[in-house]
Amino acid sequence: MIRRLGASLAVLSILVSTTVVAPAATLAACDPFTTPPTYDQGVRTSNQVIGFTLGSQEASVAQSNAYLEAVDADSDRVVHDVAAVSVGGLPIDYAIVGTPGRVTATGLSEIRDSVTVLRDPLAGDEAVNDALAATPAVLWVSANVHGNEESGADAALQVLYELANRSDCVVTNILSQAIVVILPIQNPDGREAGTRRNLYGFDMNRDWFARTQPETDGKLQVLRQYPPMLYIDAHEFSLPNYFFPPNADPEYHETPDAAHDWINGLYSPAIAAQFDREKIKYFHGAPYDFFATVFGDTVPTVGFHAAGMTFEKHSADAISVREHEHFTSMWASIAAGAAARSSVLTGWHDSYVEAYDEGLAGSLEPNAVFEPKHDLYQPVPDVTVRHYFLRNDPNRAAELQLLVRRLQRMDVTVNTLTEPLELTSFHPYGDPSEPTTLPVGTYWIPMAQAQKHWVQAMLNEDSWIPFDVTYDVTAWSNPLLMNLDGGWTGQEVDPVVSPTHPAYVFQVEGQERRAAEPTPHLDLAEDEERPDQGEADMGGEVDLDLVQPEEAGEADAEQQVEPEEGGAADEHPERHRRRLAGRRVGGRAELVEQLEKRPGEAEARGARLPGVPGDSREQGAQAPTPPRPRKGWGSSRARRCRRAPAAGPRGRPACRPASAPRSGRRGGGGRRRE
Ligand SMILES: [Zn+2]
Repeated sequence: MIRRLGASLAVLSILVSTTVVAPAATLAACDPFTTPPTYDQGVRTSNQVIGFTLGSQEASVAQSNAYLEAVDADSDRVVHDVAAVSVGGLPIDYAIVGTPGRVTATGLSEIRDSVTVLRDPLAGDEAVNDALAATPAVLWVSANVHGNEESGADAALQVLYELANRSDCVVTNILSQAIVVILPIQNPDGREAGTRRNLYGFDMNRDWFARTQPETDGKLQVLRQYPPMLYIDAHEFSLPNYFFPPNADPEYHETPDAAHDWINGLYSPAIAAQFDREKIKYFHGAPYDFFATVFGDTVPTVGFHAAGMTFEKHSADAISVREHEHFTSMWASIAAGAAARSSVLTGWHDSYVEAYDEGLAGSLEPNAVFEPKHDLYQPVPDVTVRHYFLRNDPNRAAELQLLVRRLQRMDVTVNTLTEPLELTSFHPYGDPSEPTTLPVGTYWIPMAQAQKHWVQAMLNEDSWIPFDVTYDVTAWSNPLLMNLDGGWTGQEVDPVVSPTHPAYVFQVEGQERRAAEPTPHLDLAEDEERPDQGEADMGGEVDLDLVQPEEAGEADAEQQVEPEEGGAADEHPERHRRRLAGRRVGGRAELVEQLEKRPGEAEARGARLPGVPGDSREQGAQAPTPPRPRKGWGSSRARRCRRAPAAGPRGRPACRPASAPRSGRRGGGGRRRE
């Protein structure tokens, strides 16, 4: 809230209408859609590599990976790597596109370093200014998390080709200001099998915070290396008109203001302008809300302060139409994000500073509704939340380990009390406040940290829904899901702590050893009788047979992108096909398909949720909400001004002036003892 609220509308208008990196006249002369493209960088077309034009048919997983790798081989603007290996053994390829100097090992390392500075609310001005000057915007294009919603992947490959093979001003401008991370197929097993879910039957668009599936987990590790400022998640659905944000109410109250404003004020108008030009029909709002932090739009937003956006295209249309419209929304977004690089980077850093300051003050963001004529259903109460605590109950060690690692692996700082902490007011989950002394070993998660919004999203006692019609998930508190003892306080405290080591680091005869983390990655071919998925996910024991040896955490934070040609990666698709065809997994694949196609389920669920078609984000069965003018959706400034009283709780002004000084920003780290 410190961040120039008073000026946010003016900032928005700048973001939308022009750029900070090129004069408006240059931009006008370089429209991303009307500028004649120049293809002269020697990158092979899809026709030359996989035998057909992108958008003329759906690429298979093997074809998609083959083409992505071919573009890498042909272009010094592209590197690729494997984000994860699917349950069925397929590689999940992603590519990073940038200027040749930026996509070297050194260049990417510098980007990771400077982005880390921008995510640090306590970074000094000089370091921040250097990072702002040097860092490209990090823009993500992903698709096909639902395996039977294919066309976003084909469009993402088209984006890759255009960025790699063109030398006109559109692409030159984008690459001068951004790197683009392209993840065409988030669910390769589902794409191969034609199923929404992965081979374990998981809807991975609900798996983003729990990251129980290897596909989700590996993807998030790449996101941590290259944290997005824009994250596109392309889907398909059964409605005739295209969907892109603004989203429907409810929106989660800890959604960063900057991200909200970019979604509605920067990207949405850029897409709309081109869709209007081409007369592509679209709508905003219902049923696509922005509430539960489990999705491919809300998690990049609340967890990384990105503009997370879901795009939806009618699955019954021809692949050529689906591919074209997804490409159009992606291309418009990338061009807009790159052109606004300077504003976006500044806003992104300020967003982390704001989150830290809110955490230091114990302020929760207020609830708001943004659609016209909506009334607020639940306000966020007037409480001060400065610190969360989790009691170190040895009987809940497995769950504690799982939750602590979930937090740490989203860059949340977790500490452990090394002296008892007396609190005059401690609010246990589910009970009234009382004086409490928390013992040594209690986990302490301060809100005064960059990931304040994420901490609140994961550890909240109540999700306080701002509007009473929602898509599906309405509560997701991790401690409550895991039945853990803990709670929060609004007191200012200065505990004596040590940093909580990653749970997989342990001492053997005085030596630090690292075990791989208990992230489930189970090989069907070698382990037909797998343990129950939930059991593996709870991760109480580190079973070395179940883990990826190079799994995650700090150990791989410095992982380099090393282009790899052919070789082992090429074996995966064939291996996967054999499995799908063979009797070992045939039964499971059939079961998954039956689950996907279970009749009546969607209707039954939809009937209980007014205004929500079907049982999933895309399986709508009712008529779409008519398009609404975008001006009906408020900016985050409107959230403040419409919802907060004239003087906010605890004296907070409702719409803080832009000149409000930062409060003292030390105090969240505690006193550390060697
Ligand atoms: Zn979908």
